[in-house]
Amino acid sequence: MRGRELRGELDAFLAETEQDLVAFRRDLHMHPELAFAEYRTTQRIAERLTAAGLTPSVLPRGTGLICEVGSGDGPTIALRADIDALPLQDEKDVPYRSTVAGACHACGHDVHTTVLLGTSLFLAQQAAAGLLPGRVRLIFQPAEELPGGALEVMAQGGISGVDRIFGLHCDPRVDVGQLGLRSGPITSACDRIAVRVSGPGGHTARPHLTADLVFALAKILTELPAALSRRVDPRSSLSLVWGKVVAGTAANAIPDDGVAEGTVRCLDENAWHAAPDLIKSLLESVAGAYGVEATLDYTRGVPPVVNDEVSVEMLAEAAERALGAGAVVPTQQSLGGEDFAWYLESIPGAFARLGTRSPDGVTYDIHQGTFAVDEKAIAMGVRVMATTALTALWEVGPLDSITTAMA
Ligand SMILES: [Zn+2]
Ligand SMILES: [Zn+2]
Repeated sequence: MRGRELRGELDAFLAETEQDLVAFRRDLHMHPELAFAEYRTTQRIAERLTAAGLTPSVLPRGTGLICEVGSGDGPTIALRADIDALPLQDEKDVPYRSTVAGACHACGHDVHTTVLLGTSLFLAQQAAAGLLPGRVRLIFQPAEELPGGALEVMAQGGISGVDRIFGLHCDPRVDVGQLGLRSGPITSACDRIAVRVSGPGGHTARPHLTADLVFALAKILTELPAALSRRVDPRSSLSLVWGKVVAGTAANAIPDDGVAEGTVRCLDENAWHAAPDLIKSLLESVAGAYGVEATLDYTRGVPPVVNDEVSVEMLAEAAERALGAGAVVPTQQSLGGEDFAWYLESIPGAFARLGTRSPDGVTYDIHQGTFAVDEKAIAMGVRVMATTALTALWEVGPLDSITTAMA
């Protein structure tokens, strides 16, 4: 019963608020703020939530906020949006183009923020009408692009007591009105490494009396990726690729130091956890064979986002209910990173791809100054997020609410 009514309630809500939500998104788009500097954005969201009778709690840095809708002892479902922009120039020619030089919402986080705001306003209405069988925690997360905002939210207890978490991201390769889903890993890990080698240096006439540092560095450059490919499950697609090498200044002098830098990308969570120790031990054994000292500087990015199967089913069910049959499309694991992954290391949940391309339209890729969305995606996102939260509450809620929902 509730499932069928819900669609009509969302229709009525969006008929009244869709234009206002589009205006809210355009305002954010004109005033993008970079990671951990989202003060204005945070205030704008807080004002709207407060006006709807909710009590948002701004994170200690003053950027990002958490707000809970509903009360009682029922389950808690979290919905997360990221709110930061990118340090890129807006290259679009639209009335709402960025007014800040060198900053632009080129990853669609203004859309995510607006979708979650619309969802919050709808859920506040549902709660006021006594129709929310639990709590929904709204997480407006700062600094996804750094990354690190997810860790900040978690440090503030943002997901404690949460049973399940959901999030979505604009996907310009999916048509508006569709939702891309995938169980298991949906994004990838990307870390950076820097290897520094040092030795006594000397004349190229006498490599045996010193340590031939350039030769040793060359061995490291080829042996490390080769050994990794034999020590890690090939299905994890762990790949070490070098982007920078520096050593020496003269043809006949063996230098006393050198450096190589590269990225480690990985599709698999277990292989990602094991990578730093494995690379360190391989590095030490290759360097040791040539008598040079080597140190590894390993900078962690984010782990892959690994979607929980049950949560994906809930999202799929909600999307079909909210957008209609055929709205769910399969999506591939991307090589990009997303810090939503940190939440999923602690609690189950799922991350979806919200279609933002106009049907038969052009794909404007994210992280480009030309990135643009079909704004109909905002209402679609609200339908999906609100229905997902309610579906998840019905399914993990006490038996009587499930019976009511399914009746
Ligand atoms: Zn991004
Ligand atoms: Zn993003």
